[in-house]
Amino acid sequence: MRRFAHIIGGATRAPAADAWLPVMDPARGEAWAEVAAGGDRDVDEAVEAAAAAFQAWAALRNSERSRHLQALSDALEARIGDFARAEARDGGKPFALARDAEIPRAVANLRFFAHAATQFASESHHGEAGLNYTLRQPLGVVGTISPWNLPLYLFTWKIAPALAAGNTVVAKPSEVTPATATMLGELAIEAGLPPGVLNIVHGDGPGAGEAIVRHPAVKAVSFTGSTAVGRRIAGIAGPLLKKVSLELGGKNPTLVFADSDWDVHLDTIVRSAFQNSGQICLCGSRILVERGIYAEFRDAFVARALALRPGDPMDDDANLGPLVSQAHFDKVVAAIARARDEGGKVLCGGHALDRPGWFVAPTVIEGLGPGCATNRDEIFGPVATLQPFDDDDHARPMANAGDYGLAASVWTRDLARAHRFGAGLRAGIVWINAWLLRDLRTPFGGMGQSGLGREGGLEAMRFFTEPRNVCIAT
Ligand code: NAD
Repeated sequence: MRRFAHIIGGATRAPAADAWLPVMDPARGEAWAEVAAGGDRDVDEAVEAAAAAFQAWAALRNSERSRHLQALSDALEARIGDFARAEARDGGKPFALARDAEIPRAVANLRFFAHAATQFASESHHGEAGLNYTLRQPLGVVGTISPWNLPLYLFTWKIAPALAAGNTVVAKPSEVTPATATMLGELAIEAGLPPGVLNIVHGDGPGAGEAIVRHPAVKAVSFTGSTAVGRRIAGIAGPLLKKVSLELGGKNPTLVFADSDWDVHLDTIVRSAFQNSGQICLCGSRILVERGIYAEFRDAFVARALALRPGDPMDDDANLGPLVSQAHFDKVVAAIARARDEGGKVLCGGHALDRPGWFVAPTVIEGLGPGCATNRDEIFGPVATLQPFDDDDHARPMANAGDYGLAASVWTRDLARAHRFGAGLRAGIVWINAWLLRDLRTPFGGMGQSGLGREGGLEAMRFFTEPRNVCIAT
């Protein structure tokens, strides 16, 4: 059975306690590998290796750091198929989705921040009090903690800006999906990244994750995951006055207006609810539809949901995989039962598939208002609700209901309305007539219970650097 060990100081390392966790294949419900169960000692070693590598890495010219990241992105691009296969096995996502979207996006993350290393500039101010300029210096050793839903995509989204800005990294991928991060760590060694610059410590949250957050030499932590864990990390980092970036959960509204070309966009709207079996923080799981088109939209949406093809992630014909784990499957099934208890009418799905693995049929529910738990809590599965609205003034508070504020999509041909909703929705990203259309230069993140801080472009480079004002009397 394949074993995913730590990568520390440029070498593969077994866990200090020789403890391993099973890694499950979600399409079969059985273990296919093991991952190191790291703890304090492993994190200590990784932080030491990162600290030892920091001065030399930070002292490189920006163009040299950029070249290292370019080399890594090229090496990854040459192996997209292998990485996509591993991602499909590990997380149960359709192979084609990993091959065509997620692994290429990981390549793009590395490449984008390779360029950012050479483009990142700081301000200067003069006239008022001498000449001021801002130095943006790397923080030192930083920690990154990432989830299982987009394993390599989110892993690289964090390590790439951290490294580009001159930091060295101790990264913890999710213990549920450790494969591709480990493979990238191995590729980094082959591609000549200096030892200790990128260290990967595996393990669960309480064992390895918290050890990274608590470690006094880790200057900042960039976290993507659930709101509950984000809150816990903030609780540990707060008294230590440690910088944190938190990208957390979402319960995103999709607003469909009668004037939109909703029939033309229906595939995208369905995809926004069900891609990766709804296990994307940006999925639109609350679909609000203007009353005049509600019945027609509902019937068409349900027909498309029924036409999705759940199946083996390696099967090219399947476009919906299983949920990632037994625990997550249980949570989603319980959320569907709760929706029924709340009075929701299940229009399609609502049950597990009769096959091995953790498959849940695409589920569409109507008849629930904005205040119920089904429409407030993140389910993170192939479950969407439909709610009718009367007009803009009715739709806006419905969309803004709840504690999250990550993303929203608005479908309309009315330009003025598009701008009003672009400004008036409580969300870090508002898409108009689009979903998951990303420009890596833009700020990315959420408000409320969806997070703290922003990633992406300059925001990420700013997070991973300390600004210093130098003032010269003139
Ligand atoms: P999770 O919070 O359970 O785990 C995320 C990571 O944190 C894992 O690596 C885990 O091992 C680690 N962790 C767990 N407990 C920890 C602790 N006490 N201290 C330190 N680290 C700890 O999340 P998940 O189930 O892996 O991912 C799904 C969640 O992530 C969903 O809520 C989803 O919305 C969210 N998410 C958010 C974004 C975003 O950009 N806002 C993107 C993707 C996923």
